[in-house]
Amino acid sequence: NSQLNPTYTFENYIEGDCNRLARSAGYAVANKPGTTSFNPLMVYGGVGLGKTHLVQAIGNQIKNSNPEKFVLYVSSEKFVNQFIESLKTNNVQDFANFYLLVDILIIDDVQFLSGKEKTQEMFFHIFNHLHQSGKQIVMTSDCPPRDLKGLEERLLSRFKWGLTADLQSPDFETRMAIIQKKMQGDGIDIPDNVVEYLAYSVDTNVRELEGVLISLIAQSSLNRKEIDLELAKQALKHIIEDVETEVNLDFIQKTVAEYFQVSLDSLKAKTRKKEIVTARQVAMYFAKEFTSHSLKSIGYHFGGRDHSTVIHSVQTVSDLIDTDKKFKASIQELQKKFKSKAG
Ligand code: ADP
Ligand code: MG
Repeated sequence: NSQLNPTYTFENYIEGDCNRLARSAGYAVANKPGTTSFNPLMVYGGVGLGKTHLVQAIGNQIKNSNPEKFVLYVSSEKFVNQFIESLKTNNVQDFANFYLLVDILIIDDVQFLSGKEKTQEMFFHIFNHLHQSGKQIVMTSDCPPRDLKGLEERLLSRFKWGLTADLQSPDFETRMAIIQKKMQGDGIDIPDNVVEYLAYSVDTNVRELEGVLISLIAQSSLNRKEIDLELAKQALKHIIEDVETEVNLDFIQKTVAEYFQVSLDSLKAKTRKKEIVTARQVAMYFAKEFTSHSLKSIGYHFGGRDHSTVIHSVQTVSDLIDTDKKFKASIQELQKKFKSKAG
């Protein structure tokens, strides 16, 4: 079992300026696995921009034209968990042997290997063996290799042997084409002005765009109405309202700044004044608790701080809660605000 999702193909992967290099490199690899200079192929880009879709399309294409090849897709998270399991059950050799048999190894989200030294050592071993035997390796990451903190240098230098290509946010025309393709695939008619309206309004990532389309389709069948501009506006408003009532980073920063009577800007500034530092740490603490932002992203939204600063802040606040009764009461008061908003 290759663990591939057959719906992720090149055929339904829309090409645009945002993905041209990555897509054509992927296509080349899919047609000549292991024999192009794109080995390894490393695709990186932000959330929802199509990394998983693209690398699975490579896998599907290879599998279809070479049924005898052993294509394996694995998330880095699963790789780590399998490895840990094999350590526990004394089956490390079996784990390694399994991966050494693979012809095309597709490993998704390698940033997840960060800090996991033993797993990296194992991956290094597998990587070298496969690469030397002319097997194809395809990887994805949420950031460029040079920013992959917590990954061993010798592994990073291997990643640079092949080709590194990025995925950018899709431009307007690509978003239009993606919407049309998705609706076509679902057999749903969608007027041009609605396609334009949506492509114009949702400019973050493809996953979000798909979320809006799903909501639009749902609205349409719920109201027994054809899809039109009015319905699209409604569907979008639903999504935007959802986002706004959610406890998001902005809301946390505003609420905490008000509570501590410091300015919103100071939370993102360099200043180390004690009352500001405390407010900043508390806001980070709640960002960690109430949002799904990664430590890295939280740091980024607090004036470009590092993820270790966020870890330190969360720890400091937890320690203070344990030792300072007054502080604990403040935290509980704030927590109530966020909980009632979160519903
Ligand atoms: P990532 O792995 O980068 O977070 P995914 O590959 O899961 O992103 O993509 C999110 C969704 O967007 C998927 O449903 C995928 O099919 C779709 N998608 C992304 N890029 C494209 C594209 N260029 N054409 C068509 N669909 C796309
Ligand atoms: Mg993915």
